[in-house]
Amino acid sequence: MIGFIITAIIIAILIITILVFGAVYKSFVRKYSVRYKQLAELNKKYTFYSFVRHDQEHVYDNKNFYDDISEEDYLIYELQFIQSDVIKQINLMSFNNEKYSKYENEVSLLNTISYDKETKGYIKGLLDYVERKEFKKLFKSVNPCRDYRIRVILYLSKINNQIYAKKSKTFYSDELLRIIKRLKNRNGGYFNDKGIWDSICRVERGKVSNKMRFAIYKRDGYRCRICGRSQNSTLLEVDHIYPIAKGGKSTYDNLQTLCHNCNVKKGANIY
Ligand SMILES: [Zn+2]
Repeated sequence: MIGFIITAIIIAILIITILVFGAVYKSFVRKYSVRYKQLAELNKKYTFYSFVRHDQEHVYDNKNFYDDISEEDYLIYELQFIQSDVIKQINLMSFNNEKYSKYENEVSLLNTISYDKETKGYIKGLLDYVERKEFKKLFKSVNPCRDYRIRVILYLSKINNQIYAKKSKTFYSDELLRIIKRLKNRNGGYFNDKGIWDSICRVERGKVSNKMRFAIYKRDGYRCRICGRSQNSTLLEVDHIYPIAKGGKSTYDNLQTLCHNCNVKKGANIY
């Protein structure tokens, strides 16, 4: 028992000594290390643009849409609206990248350890060790974003709003610029790139949530707006009055309740 207490006391004293020594050595380094102070000056000289997020999140309450729509589809859809902001951010971050290379270069020139003050009373090896650690810490504190990225996270929720599935993907500058280029290839509201157009249609269709679907049924009195049959005698569906494939949107005034038969007939007439 006494042996245990003595051991504990010795360990405690050791820890306290290390902490006190550590603090004393650190403070000496910060005050008198020449290159530490030079690095601190350099850090003040270099300012970088901050990273403005355009991460995208969406919660689906319908598993079919959640399975059907990929992170890339969702990104393509949203890039229609935010592409100019994204291009701006990509440029700023690549500017950061160039500037950071210059910074790194200047830091690499600061490689000799020396002190402004006599190091008498300090253990030289230990002091230099602490200096290197503090220098590295200060260098790592400058950590600008150098490649723009957008993270897309799609969730699947149940009726009680609890999330029970999630998928995510991060897209970097090169890929973002490739997609934006494909989005530019358009003709009014249409996109000439079939892949782009398919992605946009998938996401637009997915905007009809279960919640929205039930609101449409309710608005239309739970009856087909063409033949008038009610949900008791047929299966009701939500139809886009002006079809998505032709540029229609998933808005309340473009949605109507139809029975399955009328919906199929209408579809055959359009295409
Ligand atoms: Zn009908």
